[in-house]
Order: sequence, then structure tokens, then C-alpha cells
Amino acid sequence: MHDSLSVVGANACLRQLVGWRLFKLFDLRLNSFLMPDKNEKARRKALQRATREDAKQKVRDSLPVPVPVLKALFNYVDQQLKSTECDNTLRHTLDFIRNNSLPEKAVIDWLEDNHGYCDCETLWNSEEVVEESVPGYRDLEPSTKLH
Ligand SMILES: [Zn+2]
Repeated sequence: MHDSLSVVGANACLRQLVGWRLFKLFDLRLNSFLMPDKNEKARRKALQRATREDAKQKVRDSLPVPVPVLKALFNYVDQQLKSTECDNTLRHTLDFIRNNSLPEKAVIDWLEDNHGYCDCETLWNSEEVVEESVPGYRDLEPSTKLH
């Protein structure tokens, strides 16, 4: 009686032990499946950063006039839209371009490439693109000098 009880006890203990080991093994596998190792994470992050930097550099290379001139343009349009509503054209943008002898086609093409099809979109979309791509844009002094 005493002997058979301890055998049962030992069996149960063994079963528990095996079960625990299996669980740990499964747990380890699951963890490595769910969480890519640190190197992989770092590699992905670096890649994302590089891609973002690349996109910003492309924007900076594509600007039709110096950044301070673009800022002066955006500021002007912003001022105009404080007293009048956007009429779904680029009229204030064009006024500024012509009054300051900016290269009209280059600037308009660039604005449209950056989702600025009217005065308000120029501010909402195109200026946003410049702001995100040019470090220190907020503190930049606007200027109308092309060179
Ligand atoms: Zn608009």
C-alpha cells in the first residue's frame, strides 16, 4: 500500500516535470517567433530612418527656389487667407510669384507635385512637406532673394 502510493506520487511528479519542460520549450519558441531579436529590430529601425532621410533629401533637392523664398511665399498666402477665403485657385500664390519674379512654372509644378492645387492646399500640404524636410524651417527668416 505504502509502496504503490509513492509510485503514483513519483509518476505524477514526473508528468508535471515533463509538462513544465514542454511548456518552457514552447514558451521560448513562441517568444522568438513573436519578438524578432534585437539586431533585427535595430536593422529595421535603421532602414526606416534611412528611407525617411532619403525622402527628405529628395524633397530638399527638388525645391524650385531657396527655402526662405518658399517661406516668404507661404507667409504671404497665409496672410491673404486670413482676410479672404480660398477660391480654389492659386491666385494669391500666383500674385506673389509674379510680384517677386519667381520662376512661375517651376514653382507651380513643384507645388502641384506636393499637393498644392489651390492657395489653402499650398499651405496645408506643400508647406507641410517643406517643414518636415527642412530642419529648422520654423526658425528660418523668410526672404524674397533668389540668389
Ligand atoms: Zn483651397
